[in-house]
Amino acid sequence: MSDEPSNRYEPQIIESRRQAAWRERDAFKTPPLIEEQPHLYIKPSAPFTSGNVHIGHVRSYSIGDAYARFRRARGDAVLFAFGYDAFGLPAELGAIAGGVSPSEWVNRCATHMTGQLDRLGFSFDWERSFVSSDAVMYRWSQWLFLALLDAGLIYHGTGNVDWCDNCETTLASIQVEPGGTCWRCHGPVRLIQLPQWYLRISAYVKENDERLAERAASGIWDEVPLASQEIVLGRVDGVELELAPVGGGAPLMVFTPHANALADARFVLVSARHPDADEWASDPEVHDRLEQLRSGGWERSSREAETIPVIDTGRRVVGPTGTELPVLVSPVVDSRFGPTAVLGIPAHDRTDEVVAERLGIEFERAADGGAEGVEGGDDSGSGTAALGGRPAVRYRAFDFVVSRQRSWGTPIPIVYCSRCGTVPVPREQLPVELPLDIHPTGAGNPLAEMESFVQTTCPTCGGPARRETDTLDCHFDALWLWIPACVPAESREDSLEEILALADLRHWLPSERLVAGSDSGNFVFDQRIVTKALRDIGPLEFLEDGEPFAGCLFHEMVVSDGRKMSKHLGNVVDPDELVARYGADTVRLAVLYAARPQKSLNWSDSAVLHCNRFLKQVWETTQRAIALARAQELGNAAGVAVGAASGENGAGETGSAEPVRDTTEHLRLKLSGWCDAAVQRTTTDMEGLEMHSAVRNVMRLLDRIKDFEKKVLARQPELGAANVQALTDALTVLAQMLGPFVPHIAEELWVALGNDEHVTQTPWPGVSSTVPV
Ligand SMILES: [Zn+2]
Ligand SMILES: [Zn+2]
Repeated sequence: MSDEPSNRYEPQIIESRRQAAWRERDAFKTPPLIEEQPHLYIKPSAPFTSGNVHIGHVRSYSIGDAYARFRRARGDAVLFAFGYDAFGLPAELGAIAGGVSPSEWVNRCATHMTGQLDRLGFSFDWERSFVSSDAVMYRWSQWLFLALLDAGLIYHGTGNVDWCDNCETTLASIQVEPGGTCWRCHGPVRLIQLPQWYLRISAYVKENDERLAERAASGIWDEVPLASQEIVLGRVDGVELELAPVGGGAPLMVFTPHANALADARFVLVSARHPDADEWASDPEVHDRLEQLRSGGWERSSREAETIPVIDTGRRVVGPTGTELPVLVSPVVDSRFGPTAVLGIPAHDRTDEVVAERLGIEFERAADGGAEGVEGGDDSGSGTAALGGRPAVRYRAFDFVVSRQRSWGTPIPIVYCSRCGTVPVPREQLPVELPLDIHPTGAGNPLAEMESFVQTTCPTCGGPARRETDTLDCHFDALWLWIPACVPAESREDSLEEILALADLRHWLPSERLVAGSDSGNFVFDQRIVTKALRDIGPLEFLEDGEPFAGCLFHEMVVSDGRKMSKHLGNVVDPDELVARYGADTVRLAVLYAARPQKSLNWSDSAVLHCNRFLKQVWETTQRAIALARAQELGNAAGVAVGAASGENGAGETGSAEPVRDTTEHLRLKLSGWCDAAVQRTTTDMEGLEMHSAVRNVMRLLDRIKDFEKKVLARQPELGAANVQALTDALTVLAQMLGPFVPHIAEELWVALGNDEHVTQTPWPGVSSTVPV
């Protein structure tokens, strides 16, 4: 097999040669900090160590990689790295299925996936990448847990979890089968109450809301992630007012989105999680029912207003017009307004209408017959003011449980001492290491049964103590998983206090762009909360707005025949197979070409074939132009030699012949204009991560180039020197613009066209060259 560029497009040879060159020159190493230079941290999503890179990953990383390469091509300092999200249930289940320990499983998966991603030519800085289940990494989770605990942003409370009696284990919601049975033994699943650790996001929900307008104004937050943040917030505008209890006592603050209909209020609904719910349900029988409701499966049951539990407390408050209103407790409030209390206005609210009918509460239907859902934003006019309401906002987003009763996760750095109670592990004793010889079976929590782990000494009194055996949900790991890539690998072993004081964080944060799947809204919302907490706690105080991502793009899924790909449906596309057959460049180009990032990509082989054909044409056209240029040079050299030998006047291309009148200059000018326009359009597309449009603009340029050649040859038998030059110039621009999408073939052609390799990336057209290797 020859290593010489041939006129045939052979992606396998080209791609392995380019990848070897990148490794050789350490092309994607994160550049050192330079004070004056802007630093761009382009944040890809953190893949689960699922074992295989799927076509959805290829889409995600092709977008992020194209952007990272584009910014490098313009001379920017770029950080492009990620951590594998290695804890959690999928890894645990994978390990069970594979008959190995989870740590062995995730390391095996990470190695395999790294190989796959490398073969695709993604420009990750592997030195900065990591696996979140390494102790030196998950101590970030533990440090964060303690920092948030100190700040009062983590608390211990009681929550409901799914529980299987046969397996003696808690179940994640994905382990509960649709009929409410256990995934493992198919036995019934109950909801039980367990003490849990909660993250108090409610402290920052309002700021996340207020900062959203700034995100939108930045112009680099795409509409999809912006919308996702609104959805997670669940903001409802309305009015609130205080109602006095009949028989005395502290007033109850109630909210309603129906500001103009206060007079139609017929009851009050209080969330079971409302801080005063127990007080309102103080009657022993009512309180029993409330406890039953809290532990008895309302999260399992339908959330529909028709079936959701409603408890009449027997108590009343004085309503806005002076009539007495019954006080009811129901979780129906939470899913609409968060853990608050609301006015029930059945004439104007469909849910309230259903509740009123169930409880036999009488009301008059509105004249327009229009009981509506939550409209929000009703103007709080004079009528409202007269009834005592004032504008108010409620959010559905609320504190959530971060602990899990499972073994494959970050150990929670807490010990329980009979003398001192709940004691946080001192930070200098981190990490609390997870034993690596755990073999989960799906039943119980093996960590809780491992006495060597459980038994410890109390850090405060030195007496015997027991470790917390719950672990942190991997959603908690995701809160920090994007930060450590900012830190040079050689600092990774330092104390977290030292790491957080590094100048690197100030330079790389906030991340210039997050590129992630459209299902990342919750992660991003909670990451935005935690950076605000860390700003106030101290380590990220330089982030004034507390925002982790200056810009954000969410892309949709890759589907097949309009359906999600799954093994079950047999419609999975295997990237490895495609790469082996067509080369990485074709696969990367196809996922970018086939759809806008914001649209679902409906997989079709025709996009692959089209892109493969295009690359073949680029290759052949460029090789032909290079051959013409060489022939020209040789011809010139020969011409000069002959001319000099015969002593005739005239060197160079015209020789002694009568100069041919050039009738193609306007075509060259036109070609050069097309190149300029293509560069301009593609640059704008790349800045906006509109890869789909960028690829099409570059493809169009090839058509223009071929058109130019055809038109010249229609006028004269040969291209001639000036046109060959124009042709190679245009093809050089084409190769430069292809660099971010199809980096292997692009760099190969760039070099073949007589240019030097650059350390990071072929420069973008119009960018003055940086130092070549
Ligand atoms: Zn079970
Ligand atoms: Zn103690």
